[in-house]
Amino acid sequence: MDQPYVTLNDGQTLPQLGLGVFKVPRDEAASVVATAVETGYRLVDTAAIYGNESGVGVALRSPSAAGVAVTTKLWNDRHEPNAARTALRASLEELGRASIELYLIHWPVQTSDYVGTWKALIEFREEGLVRSIGVSNFTIENLSRIIDATGVVPAVNQIELHPGFQQSELRAFHARHGIATQSWSPLGQGAALKMPLIGAIARKHGKTPAQIIVRWHLDCGLMVIPKSITASRIQENFYLFDFVLDEEDLATIASLDRADGRVGPDPATFG
Ligand code: NAD
Repeated sequence: MDQPYVTLNDGQTLPQLGLGVFKVPRDEAASVVATAVETGYRLVDTAAIYGNESGVGVALRSPSAAGVAVTTKLWNDRHEPNAARTALRASLEELGRASIELYLIHWPVQTSDYVGTWKALIEFREEGLVRSIGVSNFTIENLSRIIDATGVVPAVNQIELHPGFQQSELRAFHARHGIATQSWSPLGQGAALKMPLIGAIARKHGKTPAQIIVRWHLDCGLMVIPKSITASRIQENFYLFDFVLDEEDLATIASLDRADGRVGPDPATFG
């Protein structure tokens, strides 16, 4: 089975599965991304704050990485149109790209003028500097504000989402508005791999817990960006196009959701 792609609300397509590189040191990023590209990944998720865009850029310049899509993100201290433009220019420079496939506002920062920042991203798209624009960690209220103010619906909202924190209310809002949900910390930063019920489903399918969880994201229609720096795990997290979960598995994983299951910061207060 080929890897799946999703069509965004602006008509562009992106791979449903990508590699996340949070906490990957700059000098390791090139080889980690090269391993992922060799494995078949066609999407890499980085951010200005990760400090590794230049390493990602080295791997992306290789001929074997032609056609690989990249996401990067605007950091919290750049919520102002001119600052955002300077930040995007710096990211493009680091990545060695004239344009990128997806640019996200990293966090809303509740006290910031994130509506003004969203207007700047709309301009960047019109200028061809970025192909698609979206946000990350936006709440329903944050999304409603930028949509009401501009009429432009983000293509993607990248949010914390894993079996222990499934975000059904926000996902339902996304579905109503045609926003693709992209799961960050899809493995719960490793914690979800240790859940006994995930282990049981893995044994049933002859797969690993990581493969069950990444497959769950795909089967739920979510975009997903698991992170690893280990070649065997980068491969393991990608080799899952030969099975699907059944109704019983999906019901079991649905039961693992917890209202207090966050492993990362809360967008209501972060930044
Ligand atoms: P994750 O849920 O992907 O877990 C990563 C950890 O799981 C790794 O460090 C590794 O220890 C372990 N792991 C991965 N594959 C494994 C395997 N096959 N077997 C055993 N263990 C395995 O956590 P993450 O890195 O926090 O999230 C993934 C990506 O999401 C990040 O790299 C980043 O790109 C993105 N992210 C975005 C935000 C945001 O605010 N937008 C926040 C956090 C992460």
